Amino acid sequence: MNKTPWRLNPTEYRKLQRKIRNTDGCWEWQGPTTPNGYGKARKRSGAREQMTHRIMWEHHNDQEVPDKLQLDHLCRNRRCCNPEHLEPVTGSENTKRQDHRERRKTHCPKGHEYTQENTRVSKQGKRNCRTCDRERKRDISVTSAAGVEPSGIEPESNSGPQADFTTV
Ligand SMILES: [Zn+2]
Ligand SMILES: [Zn+2]
Repeated sequence: MNKTPWRLNPTEYRKLQRKIRNTDGCWEWQGPTTPNGYGKARKRSGAREQMTHRIMWEHHNDQEVPDKLQLDHLCRNRRCCNPEHLEPVTGSENTKRQDHRERRKTHCPKGHEYTQENTRVSKQGKRNCRTCDRERKRDISVTSAAGVEPSGIEPESNSGPQADFTTV
């Protein structure tokens, strides 16, 4: 009986590693995935299928994922099995984090809604907010046209008492 079933021997490890590509620090699984998009594999022939990020985490941490804990992908990349991108958390913590992310998905970091018109998808599949794009462009054109840094403080002091005084 194997007392440390989570530990891979060098051959098993290499076999899995051959299907992993390092992309920006993520160890992206290139093999089959579960319907949810997680990598899946068998550690050895005859073993049951497991999620690859779980296999790698257990091997590198030399322990099984503790009961009642789930591995949360800090990098949001479900195919990633880099143990450093995985954090064991409770199921409720994981759900809480997911809710937070879902909510964020409907709006850009500045709070503009990601409607179809307001969303530009980059080559990497990332969403960009068109309103923010426009605001960035406007800032740039103001800077180059006036030759000064745009500032939110200047116009306000002009409309104050001091401005009245100089126009008289
Ligand atoms: Zn990752
Ligand atoms: Zn925005």
